[in-house]
Amino acid sequence: MSALTDLNTGIALCRQCEIVNTRTKSVPGEGAENAEIMFIGEAPGWNEDQQGRPFIGAAGQFLDELLASINLKRAGVYIANVIKCRPPENRDPLPTEIANCQKWLDRQIELISPKIIVTLGRYSMAKFFPGKTISKIHGTSQTQNGIIYFAMYHPAAALHQGNLRQTLKEDMMKLPPLLAQAKALKQKAAEAEAPPKPEPPVQQLSMF
Ligand code: SF4
Repeated sequence: MSALTDLNTGIALCRQCEIVNTRTKSVPGEGAENAEIMFIGEAPGWNEDQQGRPFIGAAGQFLDELLASINLKRAGVYIANVIKCRPPENRDPLPTEIANCQKWLDRQIELISPKIIVTLGRYSMAKFFPGKTISKIHGTSQTQNGIIYFAMYHPAAALHQGNLRQTLKEDMMKLPPLLAQAKALKQKAAEAEAPPKPEPPVQQLSMF
């Protein structure tokens, strides 16, 4: 069993918040265990709660479309949420729920070790870009501890505000160059950590 599958079992058994009493299934996340890009949304909705899978409703279909626009499939990335259980009536996640669930998200990030984390929506953004406003920083990135964090609107926002559809599409197009930048960053870090190459032995000059 992989460490990530083990983690998902832990999430399924977690009863730290009251919302476990109203949720159907936990929604840990899914995708490639060694994904270079990890998308982090807000919380499961009705469809996700029924099936235990993230982003499978209308917002998920739009996310698939956005991924396809840069030649990615969901199996090639990792998709998760800030909290793993559905809040009743799709209300916003409570600060205590976000705090309780932080350990699961932190461990997921540690195990997957992505090069880029894309925050989808303001709750996810608030975790990594504290004090910022999504309307100001969407489409921008910051680097911390070798990971590039990139802020985007939540795909569900485009279902209510049609003009955000184009904004999301344009922001998504910034990901491929960012990934190239992230790879170069990792390469540089690996080179800096590598032990110095031994000096070649000094050649003795022969007298004969
Ligand atoms: S939201 Fe997270 S911390 Fe709360 S019960 Fe679900 S898995 Fe546990």
